[in-house]
Amino acid sequence: MPSKGFTTRNLHSDREDQPEHGALHKPVHPSVAFGYADARELAEVFQGKRKGYAYARQGNPTVVALQKRITDMEEGVGSIAFSTGMAAIAALTLTLLKAGDHLISSAHLFGNTNSYFRTLERLGIEVDFVDATSAVAVAEKIRGNTRLVFVETIANPVTQVADLEGIGELCRQRGLLYVVDNTMTSPHLFLPKSVGAGLVVNSLTKCIGGHGNALGGTVTDTGNFDWSAYPNIFDIYRKGDAGEWGLLQIRKKGLRDMGASLAPEAAHTLATGSESLSLRMDQACANAMALARLCADHRAVARVYYPGLPEHPQHQRARKLFRSFGALFSIDLKSGIDCFDFLSSLSIVVSSSNLGDTRSLGIPVAHTIYFEMGPQRRKSMGVSDSMLRFSIGIEDQADLVADFSQALDRY
Ligand SMILES: *Cc1c(COP(=O)(O)O)cnc(C)c1O
Repeated sequence: MPSKGFTTRNLHSDREDQPEHGALHKPVHPSVAFGYADARELAEVFQGKRKGYAYARQGNPTVVALQKRITDMEEGVGSIAFSTGMAAIAALTLTLLKAGDHLISSAHLFGNTNSYFRTLERLGIEVDFVDATSAVAVAEKIRGNTRLVFVETIANPVTQVADLEGIGELCRQRGLLYVVDNTMTSPHLFLPKSVGAGLVVNSLTKCIGGHGNALGGTVTDTGNFDWSAYPNIFDIYRKGDAGEWGLLQIRKKGLRDMGASLAPEAAHTLATGSESLSLRMDQACANAMALARLCADHRAVARVYYPGLPEHPQHQRARKLFRSFGALFSIDLKSGIDCFDFLSSLSIVVSSSNLGDTRSLGIPVAHTIYFEMGPQRRKSMGVSDSMLRFSIGIEDQADLVADFSQALDRY
């Protein structure tokens, strides 16, 4: 356990490394290349014998400072930052899996991750999508070539909560790499490390950056997984401390060779945004709870999907695992109510696709982010044509309640 609290540690993280002139923020270093007076030093940096920077695709001081913050938030042993959350997911799976391997994924999945895993199938990686609210459903799919289990904490837009503990225990027993996408909860609400995750993914674009003004993603190694037992580590990386092999391979084969590097300017923006994560999350979660309750009690709403409501199927699990229930909820309107009309009648909520912003955003799911999937797969994921998803921000609660009330009371 760290000796200081989450926010205190984050706020003082850059300063601990004593940036020049006593700067409180790690400066933005735009330099692509880093020079050395003695060419031998440069060679040693390349060979990993000396700490330092050579070429910014693989590492940049501003980005490394952000990686340190995320590692600290997740209480992990190291992180690698990428240009987006999707780039982080792509880099880790493409470098740790090969043709003939089997991946088990939650079926309750971010739309683009779902689409991306379909691409992995074309590369010869077998993928099974299972109901991750049950560890038994995951266990039934494990085979000899299963390498990795991928789940999200709270899925979007239906808000299923994965059996995070059960799957963690299963992965531990069977020696499988357990990857948890913590984007929806953020490390303020939940630490995947505590349920046995080996790697944690965060889209920094969402809650951690928090202001909808920069893209970024990370992979964090929690230190839980025994890389010496993982068959897909290249021989060249099977050297030194086995605890570092996983991230080393993702950094070299994923970040360096695939090249989706985070820009230093974005790293600075995300780091600054992250400083208020805990305050923003607490306010946004309290707002979401109030609005979900309001909707649940209103005649215009057929159903509310929010883990904070006692009738949610995984409410008890969410209560046990998470500090609070997240800032995202979805609703099905009563039949006959047009979801576009309803969304347009809200004056504070912006019709927009992002989530984890300081502003409240709403989106008609079937007609936008889940459109490409088609009606059949939408139905199997429990996404109705009238479903609206809300990512609630940090506005004053009374204003949000008044806005939702006037829109609902029209029906
Ligand atoms: C948004 C999101 C991603 C992808 O992140 P980007 O930064 O937009 O690429 C991955 N997982 C989840 C759960 C997300 O919400």
